[in-house]
Amino acid sequence: MKKMECDVAVVALGLSGLATSIAAAEQGLSVIGFEKMRVAGGAANMGMGPFAVESRLQKKKQLTLTREEAFMHHMEYTHYSVDAHLVHDFFWKSADTIDWLMDMGVDFEVAPYFPKAEWTAHNVIPEGGGRPGPRGAGTMVKRMTERAEQMGVQMVFETPVKKVLMENGRAVGVLAVGPDGEEIECRSKFVAICTGGLGLNMELTKELTGIDPESIEFFAGVPGLVGDGIKMAVEAGVKLAPIFPELGVGVHDNFNHWELEGAFRSKPEVAVNLDGFRFINEEMSEMSSYFGNATYNQPGHVCFEIVDTARIKHYIKYGPEVLDQVHGDDFYERFFEKAEEALAEPEFGGKYFFKANTIEELADMTGINKENLVETINNWNSYCDHGRDLELCRTRYLYPIATPPFYCMKMVMQGAAGIASGGITVNHKLQCLDAEDKVVPGLYACGIDACNIYGPTYDFYLPGMNMAFALNSGRMAAEYMAEELNDF
Ligand SMILES: Cc1cc2nc3c(=O)[nH]c(=O)nc-3n(C[C@H](O)[C@H](O)[C@H](O)COP(=O)(O)OP(=O)(O)OC[C@H]3O[C@@H](n4cnc5c(N)ncnc54)[C@H](O)[C@@H]3O)c2cc1C
Repeated sequence: MKKMECDVAVVALGLSGLATSIAAAEQGLSVIGFEKMRVAGGAANMGMGPFAVESRLQKKKQLTLTREEAFMHHMEYTHYSVDAHLVHDFFWKSADTIDWLMDMGVDFEVAPYFPKAEWTAHNVIPEGGGRPGPRGAGTMVKRMTERAEQMGVQMVFETPVKKVLMENGRAVGVLAVGPDGEEIECRSKFVAICTGGLGLNMELTKELTGIDPESIEFFAGVPGLVGDGIKMAVEAGVKLAPIFPELGVGVHDNFNHWELEGAFRSKPEVAVNLDGFRFINEEMSEMSSYFGNATYNQPGHVCFEIVDTARIKHYIKYGPEVLDQVHGDDFYERFFEKAEEALAEPEFGGKYFFKANTIEELADMTGINKENLVETINNWNSYCDHGRDLELCRTRYLYPIATPPFYCMKMVMQGAAGIASGGITVNHKLQCLDAEDKVVPGLYACGIDACNIYGPTYDFYLPGMNMAFALNSGRMAAEYMAEELNDF
């Protein structure tokens, strides 16, 4: 067995692991990071960018949201069910973390995710310029990896950690296995668990979240996110907090139907369930986690979005009503062409995507209750005539379903592996807690593994929180470790 030694053993080099490693090294601690995969960054390689409030980039844009306002919003949003001290310290550090990253050479563009959201997302401008978007944050991961190297962090890849070593109730290191199968015992003063949650472990998701994973298309995680850190923490005597995956609603097989997903995901089209009834004020579909919650409660965990040809033509000419950061703004331009292609796909057309000349025909194709659907659409059209939604209080985007052909997308539940809340219980210093809420000495957890700050529903009103929690919890944990070291 190979032996190693350091001040901080970091379990995984995803976003929170990188942040912990760099910050600990900046505090003068020796750091070894063990990563299961060949590269660093975990799910952060897929995303756009982190949240911050009162950053210098926000000030430059004359944005006025204060930390206090963001904090009060978040505590109200979570019904004060989360650790106020942790949220406070995280929010107050967030702007400094943007400076920290900018000093490493990361550039950002501030944005909201949707019209009613705050401008808190700091989306990474990809290397070489261009529009921030999905995978843009890969550039941030690169800069952080370079910084970790510069700071002397020893990064050991393709080496999963199997266990936290405990002696007399204290974490004293980790046991890992190298690519050649050799066991490595790394003794350390502190261990930080940063393995990114349980996203792609369906069995554990079912067991720990109560959500039926078979009803959800989990997408876009990275293969390593299978709950290793959560299992290790439990083995070390740590208490778990309830876990909630982030739920959303999208187009089946979305990466292969990206423009259609852009046209239907989080857009204010009329949405009905299999019974033919509306079930949400569709204005709210822009807040995808609300739409996810509402759709999850419908028969079969699905819904159907319906739009007419006149509306599509309007969008093509004048642009979408709701722009979103993920899909850009040009997804309607080739709508009719993409629609015909998708309708011709045997596994998609007629199963997930439909085109009909009458509402009755649409009901036959989709299996939606015909009588109810006809009544729902007639009612909807009369609300549009009178400018008032008498059913679900929609005040914007009151457009009739009147001009055939009608297009309808069966929307499915989606969950992003790598976005969740809950897991390892920590205090505001990111120290792990046992069943009696006592600190497990030497053991810290950061990022998604310990992200107990949203309650059941991810808060897209303050976009970018997942990455920001990973970054800031990592930095905070490292600073507390350095403080604690004085007690050794
Ligand atoms: C498609 C997509 C888009 C996203 N976009 C955004 C966004 O724009 N803004 C935002 O705020 N958030 C976004 N997120 C979420 C964000 O990327 C994650 O919340 C963030 O990366 C979490 O950081 P983490 O360190 O907890 O986990 P990760 O960054 O996922 O890292 C976990 C790491 O642990 C490693 N690992 C697992 N087990 C072991 C083990 N036993 N030993 C060693 N290593 C191990 C994994 O290989 C991985 O590298 C997105 C997520 C996805 C999937």
